[in-house]
Amino acid sequence: MLALSARRARSISIVIPVYNEAQSLPQLYRRLEQVLGEMPELKREYLFVDDGSRDDSFTVLVGLRMCDPNVRILRFARNFGKEAAMAAGLQAASGDVAVLIDADLQHPPELIPAMLETWRNGIQIVTAVRRSRDTDSWIRRTWSRMFYKVTDAICDVAIPDGAGDFRLLDRAVVDAINALPERNRFLKGLMSWVGFSQETIAFDVAPRHAGVSAFSFVKLTRYALDGIVSFSMVPIRMWGMIGILAVALSALAGLFMLGEDLDGGSVPDYAPVMIWMTFLSGLVLMGVAAVGEYVGRVFIEVRQRPLFVVADRVGFSESAAQHNPVQDNDAVVHLGETAA
Ligand code: UDP
Ligand code: MG
Repeated sequence: MLALSARRARSISIVIPVYNEAQSLPQLYRRLEQVLGEMPELKREYLFVDDGSRDDSFTVLVGLRMCDPNVRILRFARNFGKEAAMAAGLQAASGDVAVLIDADLQHPPELIPAMLETWRNGIQIVTAVRRSRDTDSWIRRTWSRMFYKVTDAICDVAIPDGAGDFRLLDRAVVDAINALPERNRFLKGLMSWVGFSQETIAFDVAPRHAGVSAFSFVKLTRYALDGIVSFSMVPIRMWGMIGILAVALSALAGLFMLGEDLDGGSVPDYAPVMIWMTFLSGLVLMGVAAVGEYVGRVFIEVRQRPLFVVADRVGFSESAAQHNPVQDNDAVVHLGETAA
């Protein structure tokens, strides 16, 4: 940790997913330049990932590139979604740290110095968390809250409410994320899954600079489902529980009915049929859950997440240098400089 707390970034990659943001891009670039211009010792690269925009975004980006060689552009052949764009950007990022930021200026670039400061203190994932959701519509706010409540209750990973994709990541984290082979990516969850030292910074989310959010109700719902399915077995296991409950309750009711019958009480004609149907449905649900248990395991296997993620290596200097040259050099070069 001493080595980590003493580090200083020499290069930063700003990763920006872009989908129909032609109107926001010039101002975004200006503000980023202003912020990073105050840290001239920091080598910077802007990685714009044009996610199949249908407006002039690409032309605007090429214009920026002509004036500034730090601008690099990846253009997707069609719209593949924000997760894919962020994945592509992180794979191309070469900096000691990477910052993920939206193109629509909802994420203020002015927060980056504070994020860097937190990183310098040894934190490897700095997440900017919005203070309020005032800029969202009522339906979106309610829907998001519900999603966070559900995931919090049933998922294996914690996703803080209000955590968007505005984050600063250490090189080690970028490498870990890039090494994940799963294709159905839910970055907010993966970020929490990989671990590392994490901290949040609060910020006020700005209204969209121009255009409209690309996320419709349907898209958001699909996105939420992605998150839940990737990190929870509850939807599979739930049916087994319901099945057991149905079997147990109908068995009890059956016994009760038998008792009534023997006592000479009156049992309605439909009662045995209903009880029998509930019992059988419960059995079927238990069968479905049993199959689900195996399918769930197949799912876990095919995702091929690594068994563990290593944050630091001590006493492995050679192999560490091989795996992670940037971080290792950093520790060596700057240890004497800033370690108090
Ligand atoms: N975006 C993208 N691909 C998409 C949708 C969005 O790359 O299919 C980008 C978009 O350009 C913006 C960021 O992802 O930089 C966030 O999108 P948006 O503002 O539409 O989402 P919201 O802020 O409403 O969550
Ligand atoms: Mg936005």
